[in-house]
Amino acid sequence: MNTKIFQIKLKQEVLRHLKYSLGKDQGHATPYDWRMSLSLALRDIVVDPWFDSTRKTYDSNAKRVYYLSMEFLIGRLIEDVAINLGFEDVARETMREFGQDYDAIVANEPDAALGNGGLGRLAACFLDSLATLGIPAHGYGIRYEHGLFEQHFENGAQVETAEGWLAQRNVWEFERPEVAYIIAFGGHVSETDGRAVWYPAETVKAQAYDAPALGWQARWCNTLRLWSAKPTRAFDLESFNRGDFLAASAPEALARTISRVLYPDDTTDTGKELRLKQEYFFTSASIQDLIRRYRSTNDDLRDLPKKAAIQLNDTHPAIAGPELVRLLTDIHGIEIHESIDIARKCLGYTNHTLLPEALERWPEHLFARILPRHYRIIEIIQDQHLKDTGSDIRIIKDGNVNMGELAFIMATHVNGVSALHTELVKETVFGDLHKVYPKRIINETNGITPRRWLYDCNKPLRNLINSTIGIEWPDDLEQLERLAPYADDAAFQEEFHKAKLENKRRFINWLSDIRDIQIDPNAMLDIQVKRIHEYKRQLMNLIEAVAYWNEIKENPTKDWTPRVKVFGGKAAPGYEVAKKIIHLINDVATVINNDSATKDYLQIVFPENYNVSMAEILMPAADLSEQISTAGKEASGTGNMKFALNGALTIGTLDGANVEIRDHVGAENFFLFGLTAEEVEERRHQPEYSRRAIEASPRLYRVLNQIASGVFSPDEPHRYGSIVQMMYESDYFLVTCDFDDYFDTQRKVDKAYLDTKEWTRKTILNTANMGWFSSDRTIKGYAKDIWGAKSLYER
Ligand SMILES: *Cc1c(COP(=O)(O)O)cnc(C)c1O
Repeated sequence: MNTKIFQIKLKQEVLRHLKYSLGKDQGHATPYDWRMSLSLALRDIVVDPWFDSTRKTYDSNAKRVYYLSMEFLIGRLIEDVAINLGFEDVARETMREFGQDYDAIVANEPDAALGNGGLGRLAACFLDSLATLGIPAHGYGIRYEHGLFEQHFENGAQVETAEGWLAQRNVWEFERPEVAYIIAFGGHVSETDGRAVWYPAETVKAQAYDAPALGWQARWCNTLRLWSAKPTRAFDLESFNRGDFLAASAPEALARTISRVLYPDDTTDTGKELRLKQEYFFTSASIQDLIRRYRSTNDDLRDLPKKAAIQLNDTHPAIAGPELVRLLTDIHGIEIHESIDIARKCLGYTNHTLLPEALERWPEHLFARILPRHYRIIEIIQDQHLKDTGSDIRIIKDGNVNMGELAFIMATHVNGVSALHTELVKETVFGDLHKVYPKRIINETNGITPRRWLYDCNKPLRNLINSTIGIEWPDDLEQLERLAPYADDAAFQEEFHKAKLENKRRFINWLSDIRDIQIDPNAMLDIQVKRIHEYKRQLMNLIEAVAYWNEIKENPTKDWTPRVKVFGGKAAPGYEVAKKIIHLINDVATVINNDSATKDYLQIVFPENYNVSMAEILMPAADLSEQISTAGKEASGTGNMKFALNGALTIGTLDGANVEIRDHVGAENFFLFGLTAEEVEERRHQPEYSRRAIEASPRLYRVLNQIASGVFSPDEPHRYGSIVQMMYESDYFLVTCDFDDYFDTQRKVDKAYLDTKEWTRKTILNTANMGWFSSDRTIKGYAKDIWGAKSLYER
């Protein structure tokens, strides 16, 4: 459609929604009203490609991908939809004609945070790529009433408050009251003549809410179906009439808790009954739903694997295996061993972590009480696996049901998320199972969607790329390689540098709205944003900042490279050490930012409540990306990819996808330091390794003393005694051992930054060589190696 005509139409549509959907007069409309009206007008346009895609999928009876994920870290959608439709400029202009600020309207949308961090964000990037590639797919998850908590600082300490994205109407979803399934818990199972009947103690209803997942240029549109728990029996009128009002709403209260809140832990297994119920709740609803869809156009459930590929994002939905077996056998009458065989052919499992505390295992008695039928099915799966393989690796062991083993045994393929991680999966967590099933573990290195993480969030760079190599790159990211020849071009360097400066100014403006702090856009912006965890070593970054501060103070007239260190990220509410680290960062920031002798060279900022929307401001602005985890601990990382794609240089260890990023952008354009995964294991076996490292490093020794003696916490000098003690006595993540190398490498970074031309050349080569990290490439890998799924659109 002609842009001008479309603009007139969009204007009419926005006004129509304002009047008839919002019931508002233009003169009284708030930013909320405008945002809703614009969103609804855009949503209307999405419905046609959505219907087309669904129809094409039904007509071709093609294989569908089902992506089961406990988390979808989506962020805002309005701009995402506008850019995929190609109507971003039209939308902006339309709002301008109404006298409205498009950016303010976009920012009015709550940030949908149905996830903790990388794992949930990966699921959101995958939805984007599945739709962009035209692969028929459904994302399945939970419609949490409250997403990840909001983080605030009180005197530097983290406090959490409930997030409330559904307090306003969620404009992207369609409620589907007719799509609902009964989910059962507890009770007992009776078996007669080999036929099992489950008599549950409790039931809730899973009701669907659908949101369109639109791909690039609206060529394809999939569905994200999120389940909300509702009572099977709405209201107990009998109790109400007796005057017992609490009992009257008991069924509703019970059901609602299941989809009430996202568990805020990203790396530890909470082991709570409610969590198990959540996992079974959304998995069972999803499996029931996909069986119903299959049966609407196919007869024999034995052919299900030809039509359905089910991917498990971590072990959270690992109950999918036994659930599918239960439905095939108990409901559809297929012999149980055959059902196991069918289920296995449908399932794939993605492993995301090697940290032992993150591997899900449920106490046998709890599991058997909540899911008695599944417990029995798992025993049968285990028996068959033992018999088939002659191994002695069990799913139920030492009083626990191990979800990792279950997912592994029930999957055709198990994948790691970076080359290094996959090799470590083979050697460590699933070393034994790998020997039994040597072809099962494969690698699919993570990726990010370039639509959100470059095209949308970094307009200055987008425009420069468009005018240099054309506009084919957003769904063919390796085209960015065509920027490489310009790395030595002085004019292009200048343009590239200007784009970075513009993004830095945008960040500084945004920051000045929340903090009273002056920042020079020419200072190096050094950013570490991600969940706060010991293995990610924010503490090492902070110690380095203090050491640098000490050095500046000792020699204040030297030509220091000005730096602004930015930290961002949430700590799990029960993770005490991580919360202490947050408090320490804020305490150190207070002291350093108030030191007039050093503030031209070093400042530290820690904006509250890191989320997707904040990432969209930070990634384009960064000069330096901190990817400094203990080697062998970060499975992949995707923050590392967002930064490098946006032209930041990385200081990092050989961990996760850092290894592959460095291979792609070139070792000379990446600041490497630290022990390798192998050396980490070796070092851990040396006695007193951390004490010895501290004694060998006067710099480190001094900083630890400062922290321990209360230099940064004069109101409570011993506040950080336990952290310093931990550095001396255990330091499991080897902060002390990597510190000197890290400090020295940072000084190389300082030096490199002073040569703007050379630095810019390196950043251009980073952007140019990051094309491989598009999640389109990742999804093509899954489609080919795991799912056997095909694209249904023709260009
Ligand atoms: C990308 C992203 C993450 C993951 O970051 P890592 O550095 O890979 O841990 C976490 N949270 C948000 C909001 C993100 O956008």
